[in-house]
Parts: sequence; structure tokens; C-alpha cells
Amino acid sequence: MIDYNLHQHSTFSDGKAEPEAYVKKALELKFRAMGFTEHSPLPFPTTFSLKPENTDAYVRETARLKEQYHGQITLYRALEFDFIPGLSDDFDSWRDKLHLDYAIGSVHLVRPEQSDDLWFIDGPEREKYDDGLRKYFGNDIKKAVKTYYFQINQMIETQQFEIVGHLDKIKMHNAGRYFSEDEKWYRRLVNESLELVREKDLVMEVNTRGLYKKRSDRLFPDDETLKQVKTMQIPVLISSDAHLPEELNMLMDHAEERLVEIGIKAVVFFREGSWEEVPLV
Ligand SMILES: [Zn+2]
Ligand SMILES: [Zn+2]
Repeated sequence: MIDYNLHQHSTFSDGKAEPEAYVKKALELKFRAMGFTEHSPLPFPTTFSLKPENTDAYVRETARLKEQYHGQITLYRALEFDFIPGLSDDFDSWRDKLHLDYAIGSVHLVRPEQSDDLWFIDGPEREKYDDGLRKYFGNDIKKAVKTYYFQINQMIETQQFEIVGHLDKIKMHNAGRYFSEDEKWYRRLVNESLELVREKDLVMEVNTRGLYKKRSDRLFPDDETLKQVKTMQIPVLISSDAHLPEELNMLMDHAEERLVEIGIKAVVFFREGSWEEVPLV
């Protein structure tokens, strides 16, 4: 059983409970560790990210919890960074300012070429995905998906972070409608990103949220990608991307089973600044 979760959101970003409620739930679940990973501050107003004016309070509250629960559970202060070329701040600037223990790098907002508009590929509304695909890419799904993966690649090449968050989130609202993940062009894009993940020694997140929110019928990333991850010996980490305390361990057992079936024998755990292996069998 996985007894830690390094990806979750509290009311400091778009989570639905105070940070301490997650700690209490984690203790109930007998977790040994947990990381707060609010959505990183962005240079424009959003409904989901940590507000720049709340960053000090985030540091204070996470420091207080680390202190208060010392000896019972290891708590980390981190961020799930959004990378938007030419718009988001360098991950490093916030890492230093907030003394983060680690960072997740994710793409939720795709910036179409030569445009200041952003295509939101996450959230519950499928219409937004469809509208953006039409408006920014003239319904050219290959062009849109390529732009997404190029943005991921640019993030990997230019930013400092440890964990790749939900690598294939782009498939969620596609839901088999515009392309199939078996198509050669798609597999090539994923493989190119995986090469970079390996080169930079990053950890691949296996994220259960799409599945338990019933927005995706598979884990992020899909089985085919996980098989490749195994072959390439890229380390993996299971997380639930919780936005509620009850979601802290959701479908983690399922993810563990999938990994074992695929032949991945261990996940990694973050301890004192480095990664150690946790066997799955
Ligand atoms: Zn995310
Ligand atoms: Zn998240």
C-alpha cells in the first residue's frame, strides 16, 4: 500500500479544504508523508492558482504544520508549477522565495503559437476544450496536441523541477473523439517527451484523478506510455492530485495494481531531498 501522497491542493489554490484537514486525514490513513502542491502563482488573475499575495501565508501555514506534526508525519511544501512559454515565471524564482522542498511541472494552459490567448485543457468542461481547439487551432487536433507536447518539452528543457505532472492530460477531454492514442504521430510525440524526461532524470507521476473524477477512463499516463516508462527505466510515483482530504488515497491501490501488471516493480519516495525506491511486490 502506498502510504504517502506528494500531489494535492488545499484552499490556498483550488482545493476544497484547509491544509490541516489533509494532515488529519493523512494521519488517519497512516501516511508517512504528504506534500502540499498548490498551483503556482501566475502573472494574471485565475480562479485556481495560489495568489501572489498569499504566498507568505502559505509558507507560514506549511511551516506551522511541519512543526506541529513533527514526529507524526513528514510534510513538504511544494508547488505544482504551470509552465506557459513567455508568461509563467521561472520555477526557480518561486522555489527560492518559498523555500520549496520539491516541484511538480505541469501544463494546463496551452499557448497557441504567436498568440496571447490560452487554451485550457483541464477542468470539468469539455466544451472549453472543443471551443479552444476550434478557435486556436482550426480543429487541427495534430497541431493542437503537438503544441501541448512541445510546451511540455520546453518546460523540461528550461525549468527546474523533479516530477512531471499528468504527462498526457491532453487526452482527457479528447476522450477518443479527435484522435486515438495508438496513432503513430501521437506515440512519437509521447516518446520524444519521455526521452527528455529520462535525460533530465525526472520522476514520472502516475496520477489517479482523471479516473476517480470520471473525466478519463484511464490513468495519466496511459498503459502504453507506462510500458515505455518501464523499458526506459524512468522512476515513477503514484499520486491522487487530491482536492479534498477524502481523495488523498483515491485509486492508489488500483494504480499500484496497474503498475505491477505492466511489470513496474517499484515506485519512488522523496526523503530528505532525494529519491528512494519503494518495492511494489
Ligand atoms: Zn495538474
Ligand atoms: Zn494538481
